[in-house]
This record gives sequence, C-alpha cells and structure tokens, in this order.
Amino acid sequence: MSAKIRLFVDHPLGVAQPVPLTREQAHYLFGVMRVSVGSNVALFNGADGEWQAHVAEAGKRGGVLVCEQPSKPQSLPPDLWLLFAPIKKARTDFIVEKAVEMGVRRILPVQTAFTNSDRIRQDRLQAHAVEAAEQCGATFVPEVAALTKLDQVLKTWDTSRYIAFCDETLAGDAERLPSKSGPWAILIGPEGGFSPDERDRLHHLDHAHPISLGPRILRADTAAVAALTLWQMALGDWA
Ligand code: SAH
Repeated sequence: MSAKIRLFVDHPLGVAQPVPLTREQAHYLFGVMRVSVGSNVALFNGADGEWQAHVAEAGKRGGVLVCEQPSKPQSLPPDLWLLFAPIKKARTDFIVEKAVEMGVRRILPVQTAFTNSDRIRQDRLQAHAVEAAEQCGATFVPEVAALTKLDQVLKTWDTSRYIAFCDETLAGDAERLPSKSGPWAILIGPEGGFSPDERDRLHHLDHAHPISLGPRILRADTAAVAALTLWQMALGDWA
C-alpha cells in the first residue's frame, strides 16, 4: 500500500537505503502524526523520485526510515519562474504555497519601488515550499531565492527567458500571453503596483511581454495564481 504521509528529505534514496531523520522530522512523524515502527511513509528528495519507506527506528529526537521500492518517477515542473514583490506575511506565504502547487521551477521575491517590506524570512518561505510539495504530490521543491532588487534582477537577466509582466494598468485591455515556447518568468507587483519608471523600463525590454489579467484589478496573491493558471494552460504541463 502507498503511504499517505509524504516527507521531503535531504538524503539519497534507493533500494534498502536507510534515511536518518532530523529532530523536526522525528517530531512531526512520531509526535504529531503518531507514526510508529513498521509504518509506511513516502519519501522524495527532489532528485530520486518518490520512494515507499518504512519506519525502522523511532525516537523523540530522531529515527531511521528504510526505502523499499520506488513509487513515482522524478519529475520537474516546466521551466517557469515566479517573480513577485513580497506583501503581508500570510499573503506572501500563500503565494509561495500556490506557486509550488501550480508548478514552478524557482521562486524569486523581488523588491520593487513600492514593495512594502525590505526583508523576507527566506528559510520560512522555503519551509512552506517544502510543505506544499509534500502535500501536493510533487517530487520537486522549487528554490525560494533571496529577496533581490528588481533593478538588479533585470540588469543580470538572461534574455533568453521571457518575462510575462503582469501590468495592472492594462486591466481590461487585450494584451495576452504570447505563445512563445522557451523558459519563462511571471512578474507580479506589490499592492501599490509598479512605479512609472519600472513600467517604462519593462515596456522597453524585448524579452518582457506586458499582459493583462482581465478587466478587474486583482490582489497580488490572486494575480499570481491567475497568471500561473494562464501560463500552465497555454505553455505548461496542463495540456
Ligand atoms: N495598487 C494597484 C494594483 C496592484 S495589484 C492599482 O490600484 O493599480 C498587484 C499586482 O497584481 C500588480 O502589480 C500586477 O502585477 C497584478 N495585477 C493585478 N490585476 C491585474 C490585471 N488586471 N492585469 C495585469 N496585472 C494585474
């Protein structure tokens, strides 16, 4: 039987491979989920696919799982990045969680002119990404990069990656996502939107495509999910 509990581990997986647990993982499995010796747990590490494992040792501060057989091949989401300006904590957490569920390769928080915060808890956001992957059956966890100024990101951008620039001033206009295949990124602004300078700069980049997300102004978290949906349907792995 396939295990319902899925755990991301930073350890190689293979036949009969023992996998030691961290203190947090042991607490989660044995303290919170009440899993005991002999129970099944599914493991993935972002590289070796998903494996069915059983609990061989269970303790308060650690434990060991042993892999049995593979249950899912390793798969990667499409080469799509999400660039977004961090907003309030709970909504930022939501964006990271939804991005993982929708399927992205990398999550890049960017600081724009009107971004509310100049700091993020990168480790917390990364932990949210891990949890979302565990929950949604993914075998890959996208990296949550450090908060970087949009200026800097655009300066060092590899121009072979297109940018779907979600521009709120286009609300109600007909600008759609162009059907160009290749690596992409979606760019979502903060609650205050993009500054005129930022907008001007983005409109002048050949690799950036300004798009509209319909006639209404969406909140940044809604906009992120909407843009990811659009992209996945047109160019991604929903086909
Ligand atoms: N305060 C701004 C709105 C910002 S909405 C204003 O009132 O104009 C937050 C972000 O969501 C925007 O920067 C944009 O990236 C995206 N967004 C929201 N609605 C959009 C729409 N209809 N079309 C394109 N992008 C949109």
